[in-house]
Amino acid sequence: MYTFKSRFRGTSALILFFVLAAGSATARQANPETDPDAAWIGAHAVTAKALIDAAMADSAAWDRLAYLTDTFGPRFSGSENLENAIAWILEEMERDGLENIRGEPVMVPHWVRGEEKLILLEPHERELLVLGLGGSIGTGPGGVTGEVLVVNSYDDLAARRDQARGKIILWNVPFTSYGATVNYRSNGAVRAAEAGAIASLVRSVGPFSMYTPHTGNSRYDEEVPRIPHAAVTVEDAMMMQRMQDRGQTVRIRLEMGGQWLPDALSHNVVGEIVGSEYPEEIIVLGGHIDSWDVGTGAMDDAGGCVAAWEALRLMKAMGLTPKRTIRVVMWTNEENGLRGGNAYRDAHIDELDNHILAMESDAGLFKPRGFGFSGSEAAFDVLTQIGTLLEELESGTVTKGGGGADIGPIMAEGVPGMGLNVDGSKYFWYHHTNADYVDKLDPDDVARSVATMAVFAWVVADMEQRLPR
Ligand SMILES: [Zn+2]
Repeated sequence: MYTFKSRFRGTSALILFFVLAAGSATARQANPETDPDAAWIGAHAVTAKALIDAAMADSAAWDRLAYLTDTFGPRFSGSENLENAIAWILEEMERDGLENIRGEPVMVPHWVRGEEKLILLEPHERELLVLGLGGSIGTGPGGVTGEVLVVNSYDDLAARRDQARGKIILWNVPFTSYGATVNYRSNGAVRAAEAGAIASLVRSVGPFSMYTPHTGNSRYDEEVPRIPHAAVTVEDAMMMQRMQDRGQTVRIRLEMGGQWLPDALSHNVVGEIVGSEYPEEIIVLGGHIDSWDVGTGAMDDAGGCVAAWEALRLMKAMGLTPKRTIRVVMWTNEENGLRGGNAYRDAHIDELDNHILAMESDAGLFKPRGFGFSGSEAAFDVLTQIGTLLEELESGTVTKGGGGADIGPIMAEGVPGMGLNVDGSKYFWYHHTNADYVDKLDPDDVARSVATMAVFAWVVADMEQRLPR
């Protein structure tokens, strides 16, 4: 058993603190007489409750998220919007009184989609919505015109390989899970080109559609010719499937202006509350500040950035200084490169041994449930106890396994990591679409997310002993 619990049992100061805490806190607390865990965790109950109440008191977090996303719009890597948003955040952090505020330089890839158009030519003529997938080559000015071959899987294409040459392959793969379905978005162009196709279309990766195409990243293989790759709506994918099933010829023209520009300068955004006793020990929390070039990237992932940032702002406003340093990081270029997460690891490689915990929110600020944690059993036990402080929000459940793309590089170096778990039922309705706006998020859920990040970060930063690895 981890010795953390026994170390403080019987410490009179702590018991006094607990008694005081128990007298005033309304958070549910275990009885220290019967529960050996209660003494240490109970000592944090008052502050945890105060953080929850402060986060839930108003819609400040939602308002800040709305301001950020309305004012700067989508924040694609290489865009002015992204750097303008970062500059504004750095200024606001100064106003909030955070410390060691800086933008850490990162060179990011710079792809631009240009003009895009998809025309159905047969069986009737009409313009359909289309969204190129990140990194796709363009079609050239005349576009690509051809007959569509609809397939449902890699096996299906293999079975129809003799019909694929010179066609435009449409991957009509219904959403099951993101992980399973996104494979066709990532690899569809390569697999279609291998079969001799001249372009590749993917049914948008999402479980529900109001005629919203979803973009996202895709890849090429050096051994395989590069062909244009774009997403169509679920509705159009199903329509073209029906046409094919009836024996109708489906002909389209696809025009895409995607191209690569030289790498651009971006920044990871960093701000801190410096710890009073162990300033070199760091709790990192954040999200990614870049987004796709559509919608406003409110849930993916301005929300994660704002939730972490608001956690620090609240602590500062409440005059709280933890024993360890709490650092908010908004990583850049998660969507099409992960350069921010990698650059953070490289820039901070010498302090990773003192990175106590890394927390990321990148699943939208829907109603939070808790965290998925990757780390030691001993740390999991401590975090589970911290979760009891969030019972009133039902957001303190810690499950095994979790993290985030941006904290992945430092987790690979041994830093314990965890990702905010939320109600995931609607995230992929809006993910990477023009509909990713702040109105999809409930101000109360946003506030709950702030409280959840704040309580975990605060207790890990302020408890007597460092979270075990
Ligand atoms: Zn994201």
